[in-house]
Formats: sequence, structure tokens, C-alpha cells
Amino acid sequence: MGRRGIKEYRPAEALELILADRDRETLKCPSCGHATIDRKPKRRLSGSRWSSHRQVVLRCGKCGRQAMYVPAKVTQPSNREDS
Ligand SMILES: [Zn+2]
Repeated sequence: MGRRGIKEYRPAEALELILADRDRETLKCPSCGHATIDRKPKRRLSGSRWSSHRQVVLRCGKCGRQAMYVPAKVTQPSNREDS
């Protein structure tokens, strides 16, 4: 793992972003707070069938960190603690 030039989130940050995306919340970079997250593929099918077996890449437009996940594999509930 770890291709040069690609910055990755720390696991906790990646998880936060991934869960937010899965829950279709507004995405915000958990590392730098930037609100522009480049998502591939883009969200378009709202509500209807969504290819949850395809890998989704989330990348911050500012700091360039990225996280990848496959929606079908993320079963963790998003019980975030607002501390
Ligand atoms: Zn960022």
C-alpha cells in the first residue's frame, strides 16, 4: 500500500468520512475541515438503486487526503460521539 503522492487519512478520520458518505450526509474533510470533497463516482441516484459494490473514492479538494471504501462492506453503525 501507499503509492507516492497519495495522502491518506488516519483510520479514524477515514472512518468518519466514510460513514458520513454512506449516510449521505454533507461531507467535510475530517482532517482540514474543507467542505469540498471530490467523490467518485458522483452521487446521482438519490434513494434508488445505488451500486454499493463499487468502490467509492473520497478525496479532499484542499489537503488532498483520500479515503476509499466499498459501501456494501461498511456495516458499522454511525454512532459518533459528540465530545
Ligand atoms: Zn482536507
